[in-house]
Amino acid sequence: MRYISTRGQAPALSFEEVVLTGMASDGGLYVPEDVPRLSHDDLAAMAGLSYAEIAFRVMKPYVNGEIDDATFRGIVEEAYATFSHDAVVPLNQLDANHFLLELFHGPTLAFKDVALQLLGRILDHFLRKRGERAVIMGATSGDTGSAAIEGCRHCDNLDIFILHPYQRVSEVQRRQMTTVLADNVFNVAIEGNFDDAQAMVKASFADQGFLDGTRLVAVNSINWARIMAQIVYYVASAVALGAPHRQVSFCVPSANFGNVFAGYMAKRMGLPVKQFIIATNANDILHRTLADNDFSKQALVATLAPSMDIVVSSNFERLLFEAYERDGAAVKALLERFQSEPSALAEAPLARLRESFASHSVSDATILEVIREAHHRTQEILDPHTATGYRAAERARADATTPVITLATAHPAKFAEAVVKAGFPGVPLPPHMDDLLEREERYTVLPAELSAVQQFVAENRR
Ligand SMILES: *Cc1c(COP(=O)(O)O)cnc(C)c1O
Repeated sequence: MRYISTRGQAPALSFEEVVLTGMASDGGLYVPEDVPRLSHDDLAAMAGLSYAEIAFRVMKPYVNGEIDDATFRGIVEEAYATFSHDAVVPLNQLDANHFLLELFHGPTLAFKDVALQLLGRILDHFLRKRGERAVIMGATSGDTGSAAIEGCRHCDNLDIFILHPYQRVSEVQRRQMTTVLADNVFNVAIEGNFDDAQAMVKASFADQGFLDGTRLVAVNSINWARIMAQIVYYVASAVALGAPHRQVSFCVPSANFGNVFAGYMAKRMGLPVKQFIIATNANDILHRTLADNDFSKQALVATLAPSMDIVVSSNFERLLFEAYERDGAAVKALLERFQSEPSALAEAPLARLRESFASHSVSDATILEVIREAHHRTQEILDPHTATGYRAAERARADATTPVITLATAHPAKFAEAVVKAGFPGVPLPPHMDDLLEREERYTVLPAELSAVQQFVAENRR
């Protein structure tokens, strides 16, 4: 198995290389050259297996023997032992045919733990084998930073630097990052906004001279291993509901599209998925593209579902590559034009997308209404991201007989502001975090200046 770029001009890479590399050198994203198949019998044989065992079987062809089976199994088991529910990602039945897939039982209470608990361990394995160290840099407005820190805190060969905008992330989200006191974890509060932090990380990846040859690694969802880890829960949940003997549909609260793309890969591998429903908040580029072929940037809106506040969906490029039948030049031309002007997809690729994907966009007012309505009907308190999914599943599902699985991407305690706005007294943090607000914090405040940040990283990496 080799990995190729969506823009067709970068060299093909091995699994190890692709995990240690971020973006392809031609500006594209890496995808597997072939799609491994899960046969009817392979899927049937997964019934009743543990999540870790299903994870091992689904991911093994992507790892391509580059980590031996026993070691990889150990990595997978360790990663998912950090989840507080024995099922790792339990299904919760809401009514006759609507299910929530609870992806929030990991250390930071959002679905990003599923991929980042694994990615940190895979990176550490490869670095140890090569006798190298690496630096991770990332900018966060919330969920990604804390999940990356939790995923890397025990990794001896990695130092992680996460930049967040000073005094502009919620207290819970800040403390989930800054109370991790491990020696390889560095939290930097930038005197600026998220875009300033992001720009400094991008500039550091573009010119890595300040690190004197030490490798800089990206853990955002352009890293293939994150997508790979997310394929697993689509397979595991569909099998739990009767696949391969029964079809299911999925509804996915979406922003950068990494999560839905993983579902699409599961379908390509052979999982019987009837429909993917993409749920967006008011930042609705994915919905506008699918519904109206309006592939254009619009100004960012701050919503009650902040982890889905994006202008451009970085992983959509991976799906476009498939919709354009792997024509890297066509994808490159489309995305370059899109940078500067409103664009549209060609007819045939758009028609291909509409065969598998539906979409629905949900306003802030509706998010609040859905949180109340879902509680009234099911006794569940949904987080605002999951609420967009709940509504989209009801509005956009193709039929009422195919079970629909809505991905619950965060625990409601993590986004208590929206829950309180919806009229509830709040949601307690789960027991393992109930002293979060008393824990010691550690972070460094720096001006929004590239040289100050790079100097800090260079001096503190071990
Ligand atoms: C990151 C995130 C999303 C969006 O996921 P994508 O893979 O970017 O589509 C949705 N909900 C929550 C809670 C998140 O943290």
